[in-house]
Amino acid sequence: MNVQTKSFQNKLFIGGEFVDGDAGGTIEVLNPHDNSPITEVAEAREADVDRAVTAAAEAFPAWRRMAAMDRGRLLLKLADAVEANADELTRLESIDTGHPLRDTRFLDVPRTAVTYRYFGGMADKFEGSVVPVEEGFLNYLLREPVGVVGQIVPWNFPLMFTSWKMGPALAAGNCVVLKPAELTPLSTLRIAELMREVGFPPGVVNIVPGYGPIAGQRLADHPDIHKLAFTGSTAVGRKIVESSAGNLKKLQLELGGKGANIIFEDANIPAAVGGSAFAIFHNQGQACIAGSRLILHEAIADEFLDKFIGLAKSIRLGDPLDENTEMGPLTSKMHQERVLKYCEVAKEEGGEILTGGKLPDDPALEKGCYIEPTVVRAKPSDRVCQEEVFGPFVSVTTFRDEEEVMEIANGTEYGLAGGLWTRDLQRAHRVAAQLISGMVWINCYKRVNPGSPFGGVRSSGYGREMGFDAMREYTQTKSVWVNVDAQIPPYYKR
Ligand code: NAD
Repeated sequence: MNVQTKSFQNKLFIGGEFVDGDAGGTIEVLNPHDNSPITEVAEAREADVDRAVTAAAEAFPAWRRMAAMDRGRLLLKLADAVEANADELTRLESIDTGHPLRDTRFLDVPRTAVTYRYFGGMADKFEGSVVPVEEGFLNYLLREPVGVVGQIVPWNFPLMFTSWKMGPALAAGNCVVLKPAELTPLSTLRIAELMREVGFPPGVVNIVPGYGPIAGQRLADHPDIHKLAFTGSTAVGRKIVESSAGNLKKLQLELGGKGANIIFEDANIPAAVGGSAFAIFHNQGQACIAGSRLILHEAIADEFLDKFIGLAKSIRLGDPLDENTEMGPLTSKMHQERVLKYCEVAKEEGGEILTGGKLPDDPALEKGCYIEPTVVRAKPSDRVCQEEVFGPFVSVTTFRDEEEVMEIANGTEYGLAGGLWTRDLQRAHRVAAQLISGMVWINCYKRVNPGSPFGGVRSSGYGREMGFDAMREYTQTKSVWVNVDAQIPPYYKR
């Protein structure tokens, strides 16, 4: 196997040690390029999650007392360690997820380092406040860490999402038990090794790779976890809401999406074609914020589609470790089958597959989880325009005017992200304001930055990652009243 990694860390990380699972089970991790085994990773069961929560709870008092600047310094060291090991992490993430090297090298890994650095810098800058109350009293607000937080991440951006979750949680003084997705645990375990190397105290971070209904469910049920941050499907998000009722956990839910990507008749067409291809085909379309619904003004629809389909057909599929590859495989066989099924659904509903909709003809790719970039003409009410496909699959519809496009764009259960392309400044802001969505991009798509809040509305969940919002999510307010100079008339005169 052409992988330049030292070896794969494949154990649970609990209390600062790499350990086997209590029940001795393992999870086989496959390379989606050819479905060959990469390694086996210890599987965390309920008892392991419980051990990890205990380790985190024991580490919490000292971690929250540590000077915020020192907590921040550890995150800054971690950011440096990510950069120092960038080549290894790049390749590790590519073989585990199927992301082409050019994506992991220029997006996943640098974005991970930048996120740890941002929250390292944030640790000692996130302040409480003072409320101007009645004379004679001082009322100040502390932002205190929640305690032990559970974090569950999906398989589509394992390295990056781990930094989005752990960065703010640790900066705010919480201890963490994180469950990576069963399909893609490798980069997260490597991060745990780096954390140990740079000096995070034992128990502050614990990593428990395991299956969702077992290890994930235990995190959601656990009575000593008071906050759970979840990124994944809306269906599992709903289950987590039910489980959280036990101890009324604070929740943060980053769920599915069905991003509208609107092209107005005055758009810069070449820029919109390139940007829209990135919006859906980057990461094989496995992105909650993907621009998976292309909504074209009828005046430019033919011209746009001609260029867009030409581009889609020219995308180079191949081994993620090949420097020339522009699109890798989907992350699992099961998911490949799911996306292919949606191609059938599209046809059954009377949709027209304009390109793709099948496995690539290349025999070198036949064992892998590949699927061609797919463009489908469909009606806004069709399942393929309403349900999250989560693949290199974009639906195309057209509109006549602004009223109609707003109805189409806002006409799903989701509200995570959307984009629009126009040269009309007023229209750009008007439409951005009307989109029911946590994030909107104007003349660009899929921009993210650790300073900019990330999250959705409606069935896309609630809460925000990144920025000051994330620090608020991982802290709770304590209001402290002090009588500095007040004469309080007695209520009960005796
Ligand atoms: P998923 O919901 O199946 O799994 C996500 C995580 O939850 C995994 O770690 C899984 O093991 C765990 N899990 C599964 N069942 C569980 C249970 N009963 N209790 C607790 N944990 C459980 O989702 P997926 O297929 O791995 O990921 C794709 C989904 O994630 C898509 O819907 C996508 O839109 C969503 N996503 C959302 C965002 C966002 O920020 N809004 C970002 C990326 C992905």
